[in-house]
Amino acid sequence: MSISRPTSIRRTAPREIRIEWDDGHVSEFPASLLREFCGCAKCVDEWTGVTRIAPGSIPVSVDVIECEHVGSYAVRFVFTDTHSDGIYSWQRLRRFCPCDGCRGEARARPDSKAEG
Ligand SMILES: [Zn+2]
Ligand SMILES: [Zn+2]
Repeated sequence: MSISRPTSIRRTAPREIRIEWDDGHVSEFPASLLREFCGCAKCVDEWTGVTRIAPGSIPVSVDVIECEHVGSYAVRFVFTDTHSDGIYSWQRLRRFCPCDGCRGEARARPDSKAEG
């Protein structure tokens, strides 16, 4: 199974990061959502893999200051709350894609009402 890779990662608006994938998919992440699913050792319990960040606890005012490629498999974001430890692999970014299609897949309900 091949892994989708981003062809473009851009900050298209304040607090909004847009990722275009090589399979044509587009993900639009609010910066606060990216911050929320940070997978660094401070944010995720390394033994259980459970996030320490309570859902909704990240202020929506959080923004991305900087985005830096890590090798050819991931990107690192620097946030306005000075957090910068999170490495976001392509797989992780795609897994957390907030679009309706991906969320629908995650639920995997055959009788899904999702349309369009
Ligand atoms: Zn973190
Ligand atoms: Zn998606």
